[in-house]
Amino acid sequence: MKNILNLSKKELEEYCTANGFKKYGAEQIMRWIYQNRIFDFSIMSDVSKDLREKLDKDFYVKLSGIIDVKYENDGNGYSKKYLINFENGDIVESISIAHKNRRTLCVSSQVGCRMGCVYCETAGMGFSRNLTSGEIISQLLSVENYENDKITNIVFMGMGEPLDNIVEVEKALEIMSNGKFIGIAPRKITVSTCGLINVLEGFDINDYKYKIAISLNAADNETRSMLMPVNKKFPIEKITELVNFKKPSLHNKITLEYVLIKDLNDRIEDAKRIIKLFSPSKVKVNLIPLNKAENSFYLKNFERPDNFTVDKFKTKLSNAGFTVTVRFSKGGSINGGCGQLKAQTKR
Ligand code: SAH
Repeated sequence: MKNILNLSKKELEEYCTANGFKKYGAEQIMRWIYQNRIFDFSIMSDVSKDLREKLDKDFYVKLSGIIDVKYENDGNGYSKKYLINFENGDIVESISIAHKNRRTLCVSSQVGCRMGCVYCETAGMGFSRNLTSGEIISQLLSVENYENDKITNIVFMGMGEPLDNIVEVEKALEIMSNGKFIGIAPRKITVSTCGLINVLEGFDINDYKYKIAISLNAADNETRSMLMPVNKKFPIEKITELVNFKKPSLHNKITLEYVLIKDLNDRIEDAKRIIKLFSPSKVKVNLIPLNKAENSFYLKNFERPDNFTVDKFKTKLSNAGFTVTVRFSKGGSINGGCGQLKAQTKR
């Protein structure tokens, strides 16, 4: 017996034809599951009886469980940090962030992470395993069910490096963005990477459906390699080469994420380096003043810059023509901000 949430449309179509059923059965089943959220095969009324009986023998539907929720009200709405567990007991975190009419879900793609970025709490827990596509989608299904509300945007900025688990992530993306299934438009889905250029090079960067965010965090190789071991393999030149190859675009720029760390990458010279390396016609910049979990041992050497410094950095980039946003991570006070996603097992 397998969890049917782990199958792509193509895989389910193959299953149908291999068992003597029409290929179209796959789409019917998936509509019931992802559009209607019906998980009992026996009531999928337009699916042939024989196929329903066969499905009952081979598959089950199992959502992830929500074992804890922490709320934060920032005046505009709630952020909720979910502790989510899977069939084998592994735990990850997902955060839903409400802003005006938008409901963004920050999903995890791995249990832990092997990228080792020194400013990120998830790295401190090491790597356990990749999530399956079903486990990635399950985070959304469980949260929507719990909140009784639709998620409108998805960011792959929870635990893990999505491009280090690209096969399962792409399977999940396909179901999340398919208008007949979950139906979140590709332009409302952002895949964030620490810069696995080898995987990015496999995408058609000018025609990639989903939004791409690259965690830059430093504009010189020495600092970036210190912060992000991945930079030793794929240095900044690789990022600029890829980004600058992209055609200028008004609506589909690559986002450069930049965690601001006091006295380390927050000087005006750092902003100037960004200006020199990148073009405002191709990228926008998202500044994230460092988040630090209370009593973080892992981040003990790092501090968040003061607001004045953040503002100066932002103004320097804006004056050079860049669209710049500052993300004072919501969920900060519940240790649910970026880089603070470290599953605590409740014992
Ligand atoms: N592995 C992916 C996605 C997860 S991190 C990546 O590296 O992009 C999502 C975002 O949170 C990244 O931009 C990362 O730089 C940022 N981040 C990580 N730790 C942080 C911290 N302690 N404070 C603020 N932002 C952090």
